Formats: sequence, C-alpha cells, structure tokens
Amino acid sequence: MTAQPLAEAPVGATAPAPASPAAPAPATPTPHPAVAAMPVSGDEILVGGVPLERLAARVGSTPFFAYDRQRITDRVREVKAALGDAVRLGYAVKANPMPAVVQHLSGLVDALDVASAHEMHTALDTGTDPGRISFAGPGKTPAEIRSAVAAGVLIELESYTEARRVVAAGEALGVVPRVAIRVNPDFAVRGSGMRMSGGPQQFGVDAEQVPDLLSYLGTTGADVTGFHIFAGSQNLDAELIAGAQRATADLVVALAEHAPAPVRYVNLGGGLGIPYFPKDRPVDLARVGESLAAVVADQIAPALPEADVHIELGRYLVGEAGSYVTRVIDRKVSRGRTYLVVDGGMHHQLAASGNLGQVIRRNYPVLVGNRMASSDVEQATVVGCLCTPLDLLADDVPLPRAEPDDLVVVLQAGAYGLTASPTAFLGHPAPAEVLV
Ligand SMILES: *Cc1c(COP(=O)(O)O)cnc(C)c1O
Repeated sequence: MTAQPLAEAPVGATAPAPASPAAPAPATPTPHPAVAAMPVSGDEILVGGVPLERLAARVGSTPFFAYDRQRITDRVREVKAALGDAVRLGYAVKANPMPAVVQHLSGLVDALDVASAHEMHTALDTGTDPGRISFAGPGKTPAEIRSAVAAGVLIELESYTEARRVVAAGEALGVVPRVAIRVNPDFAVRGSGMRMSGGPQQFGVDAEQVPDLLSYLGTTGADVTGFHIFAGSQNLDAELIAGAQRATADLVVALAEHAPAPVRYVNLGGGLGIPYFPKDRPVDLARVGESLAAVVADQIAPALPEADVHIELGRYLVGEAGSYVTRVIDRKVSRGRTYLVVDGGMHHQLAASGNLGQVIRRNYPVLVGNRMASSDVEQATVVGCLCTPLDLLADDVPLPRAEPDDLVVVLQAGAYGLTASPTAFLGHPAPAEVLV
C-alpha cells in the first residue's frame, strides 16, 4: 500500500497513535489502520481518486463494491519486489472474480489460478496464455475436466478419479493433458484462519498416496509437471508461513523421486492474510520473501533444477483494495442503542457479518464515507436490510453521527465479498461492482 494521508483520519482522530503494538489502549479508540489508510478529501473518502458521493452518483445506485485499481497494482508490485526473481506470482481468481479485476491482474501477475470452469473462462477471456492458467479444486465435474483439457490449462489433480477422467478426456480429444498433483501433506500449518491441509481433507491427494498416483500417470500420456500444496487461508504470521514453506519444499523434493519426468512446477500455495480486526498485524512481507528465496536456493533449486516455483495469492492482492458502500436508510434508537439501517447487508458481504466461518464475531473496519471530518462521534450499530438478526455489519462501534442518505462503508471488502455471499437471500437486487 502506498503511504496515504493520515492527517484527516476520522474517528478518534484526536487520540494519539500508539507508539508500538504494546502501547496501552487510549481512552478514545484509535482508528483501524485500514480506516486511517483511506485517502480523504474534506469530508469524503476517495476511492480510486474519486470522492465517494461523486462515485456513488456515477454508479447510480447503492449498495455497490468499489475496487481501487491503483491499490491492486501497488500491492502486486510490493509482493513482486519482496519475492524477487526466483518465485512466480499467481492470482487466485476466486478471491475476486470480477472480470475487470481479473483482466487488470492478468497484466500484472505471472499466472491465474481458477477453481471452476466459469472462472477458467473468465481467465481465458483476459487473453492469458492457457499455459499460465491452473485449475485446482475438488469435485471438478467431467464436463469441467473436458473443458480444461481442451483449453490446455494445467489441471491440479485432487484425486485418483480426477486423474483417470483427465487421461480419458485427453484421449478423447487427442490432447496431451497437463497435470500437477495437489498434495495433502502429512503436516498441518498453524495460524491459518481456514485450514486446508493436513489430516483427513477433501483437498488434494494424501502425500502417502502420491507415489502410486505418479506411477499410474507415468503409464499414461499425461504431461506430469509437478506439485501444488496449499496449506490454508488468512495467515498473518510470517514465521508460520515460512515454516510451512520449508516443510512443503522438503515434501515436494521427496515426492519428486517418484515422478515420471523432471519436476518443472512447484506451487507452494500462499494464504497470506490481511488485517481485518484491530489486533491483527499485517504480514511481514519482507520476511516471507526472504524465507522463500532461501527455500528456493537451498531446498528446491539444488534438487529440482528445472522447477519453476510459484506462490498464489487471492485475498492479499485484492482484499484491502475493496470497499463495500451502503446508504443509510433509517436511523433509530432502541432502548438506548443507536441503529443505522443500511441498504446493503450480509447478502453482499457475508464475511463482515461474521457468518462466513468465524467462531467469534468481530467488527470489520467501517466508516461514514461522507463525514470524515466530523468530530460528532457516537456509538452506533450498523445493520443491513435483511429481516434476520444475523445481518449485522458493525456492532456498537464509534462512528461520526450519521443520518439517512449518508454512506456507510465497510473496508477490507475486496476479497470473498460479493461472490462469497448469499445474494439471493431476501431477493434484493445484486449490487454493482466497479473497478476505479
Ligand atoms: C482459495 C485458494 C487460494 C487463495 O487463497 P487466499 O487465502 O485468498 O490467498 C489459493 N490457492 C488455492 C488452491 C485456493 O483454493
């Protein structure tokens, strides 16, 4: 993220910034770093350089998602600078599959990782070479497999059954399928908000079954390129991430002995998280980069000199670039508690309501996007327009006093927002999405 003005930060702007993470909490809450990082002009936040009311007028309706093109670009540049030349960067499309976002990222990253045929078509539509697209995910249907083989993308095999279907599709189409094996390692990674490896899993092929699968693939005409291991999502701890990558590299080197051809593809996953909650600290990206460079130089390159090492990131590339913009419909006080009822809700931004796999509900950073200079701060609860108590966007947070027609914005909304939410619930229209 580029340095952005902090001077006009809204809520609690009078509170001194804590000197260090260990500093005692000030009496007035310090704004969430994501709030403090939003550029502001006068009373309004700027998204992609456009003042929020102007942007809302341009979009023509609320609620909407706005993604900041420059912030995505800056984030990719930061990651690439930290990774250096030894590692290729992929974008996991499911984090935000808006075609304009995928198009933008296709020009910035080295590869696109898709998890459905629909995402694969979005990726192909960007003009990305199929050689730079990989398709992972359990339960690929025979029709999806046929499309993927025909397209020539790399298929990351999640099971023996998938392997047989891929081989059959290749024979039927007269195409040599390109495959890698997604491995479920024999270790788990701590620190992931969502664990996707270790122990029994629906993801990948258990490490101990991989040699068998490799020997089967060796008897077919498939082009076996290498391995893919994805440990889990939303990890903020660089040391845990580094440890996982070292263990993953050891496992890949061991499995490579059973491969029918030299390994050319090693995908170490990603799962770098972003800070959603006040106590979250951003990932130490430099540390992740250094440790990856060492993994490549010391572990992978000596054993597998032909291997291209990849990591793939979704949330980290787009999450902080997105804002979910809603309009206040009603303001009511119920037995001493102030409610702001907005025209959006959990049907668009499920994660912010705390209902997307969270054990404890915590507030995403929110702000009133057209009252950034106000010092009239109150405690308010922001709820959506769905008739369920689950539709809670911010519970008892300090916000500038807001009235109907004001714009309440949920930050950190660029990943797993719209497409990870139950949009049909209550039958409201779908929100607009813009890349600004
Ligand atoms: C979802 C997914 C990702 C992206 O995870 P993030 O936490 O968003 O970075 C990467 N790889 C695979 C295989 C995935 O399924």
